[in-house]
Amino acid sequence: MLDLTYETPKPKVIAGAKHDWELVIGLEVHAQVSSKAKLFSGASTQFGAEPNSNVAFVDAGMPGMLPVINEGCVALAVKTGLGLKAEINLTSAFDRKNYFYPDLPQGYQISQLYHPIVGEGEVLVDMGPGVARLVRIERIHLEQDAGKSIHDMDPTMSFVDLNRTGVALMEIVSRPDIRGPEEAAAYVGKLRQILRYLGTCDGNMQNGNLRADVNVSVCRPGAYERYQETQDFGHLGTRCEIKNMNSMRFIQAAIDYEARRQIAILEDGGSIVQETRLYDPDKGETRSMRSKEEAHDYRYFPCPDLLPLEIEQAWVDDIAASLPELPDEKRARFVTAFGLSEYDASVLTAEVESAAYFEAVAEGRDGKMAANWVINELFGRLKKDDDRAITDSPVSPAQLGGIIELITKGDISGKIAKDLFEIVYTEGGDPAKIVEDRGMKQVTDTGAIEAAVDKVIAENPAQVEKAKANPKLAGWFVGQVMKATGGKANPKAVNELVAAKLGL
Ligand code: ADP
Ligand code: MG
Repeated sequence: MLDLTYETPKPKVIAGAKHDWELVIGLEVHAQVSSKAKLFSGASTQFGAEPNSNVAFVDAGMPGMLPVINEGCVALAVKTGLGLKAEINLTSAFDRKNYFYPDLPQGYQISQLYHPIVGEGEVLVDMGPGVARLVRIERIHLEQDAGKSIHDMDPTMSFVDLNRTGVALMEIVSRPDIRGPEEAAAYVGKLRQILRYLGTCDGNMQNGNLRADVNVSVCRPGAYERYQETQDFGHLGTRCEIKNMNSMRFIQAAIDYEARRQIAILEDGGSIVQETRLYDPDKGETRSMRSKEEAHDYRYFPCPDLLPLEIEQAWVDDIAASLPELPDEKRARFVTAFGLSEYDASVLTAEVESAAYFEAVAEGRDGKMAANWVINELFGRLKKDDDRAITDSPVSPAQLGGIIELITKGDISGKIAKDLFEIVYTEGGDPAKIVEDRGMKQVTDTGAIEAAVDKVIAENPAQVEKAKANPKLAGWFVGQVMKATGGKANPKAVNELVAAKLGL
């Protein structure tokens, strides 16, 4: 059903260097699981709560406390895996990643290094109509988030807020299949869209609920193809990892800067040191945070407090049966079922709420007309109204549908419909009743239109002569008749009558 024929974009080539260089990018996206409770405790995950008010003993690393796995988080990770067309591992296991940091009271993070819950999947990244890149997912594992150290509240003290400690994250690791800054942003955007459709992560990047570590390397043309054939990373350049990016714009800027930095070093005869870097948005630069040589030895080992996680295929099947229609499928269906362009279909399916709104309007009505009204009038009006959300639209799908029906029936013209839309938007009410009560109905009665046409012709003999010599000027008469009828005359009928009466 899903038409997956698409063209693959060319890799981004960095201009201005001595040689051609291609970019290779792999992303590790941390997505906070939409769960009310933490991964191993019953403490709340509510954002913005009083500092240290959502902390269970186990989150605070109290001795003797045992983690208890949250089944809901596991179900959401499985759902995410299924949504990314990935393998689900019926057996997975948790490991301890040991390091010391004040916001990590346990002294280790519980993660899944050796046996992640989700294996290989894929994301189709749209890069324009008919152009897309298939990015492979390597794995998704469940892990705990750390707390937050606060250094800028007091000149002499640092504080720590453990509310986020132990919140469930899904780390979604891509293969290095992304080939440019725009693709990296589009990949994060598509992933975010899928997670939001699935309801497994709210995708709120400002709150840090979706953030990415961006791995960047450069290579000469041909090297990536050799990697693809052999899956041998040795063909690729050495990568640097830019940590914790939570803005699409900064992701692009950081990749662009990083690629140029690496190329300059390589063309100068130097070599790239594998390291972790941070992006500074004020300076537009990345800078070194720590190199891999001096990187921590995390001394991963299986967490002795947790048994391997065993799930049943039947449970996975139940989750699979509950999956919603996903963006690619929905967009394809909108194109075929409602006759929309790819572009309109992708605008309408960007958010699941907009898609649902559109479908309610289009059901049993003209799909293209519904799409035009939702995209041009409704979206435009909501944007002007302080970027109001579609879920908070003052015009319901039934009301907008009512307006469209009035146009289709010929009761109102498109122009009057815009006035009517504004009335419904600001005052509410049933569109048909408003049209009736305020006398907004279009005049389709040819007798009345004819009288108006006759009157304008009789009163303007000079214009009549001109129009007879130059039929293009007939439009002037149409305009006069529309004016005389308060814009309510059926434009098609007016056009025909004017042409007939002028003998054009
Ligand atoms: P680590 O935990 O050391 O960062 P992972 O294997 O978990 O290592 O993640 C590595 C990420 O870096 C993956 O997204 C992978 O696709 C990407 N990656 C690996 N090699 C390269 C490379 N040469 N260039 C760009 N990205 C790379
Ligand atoms: Mg990494």
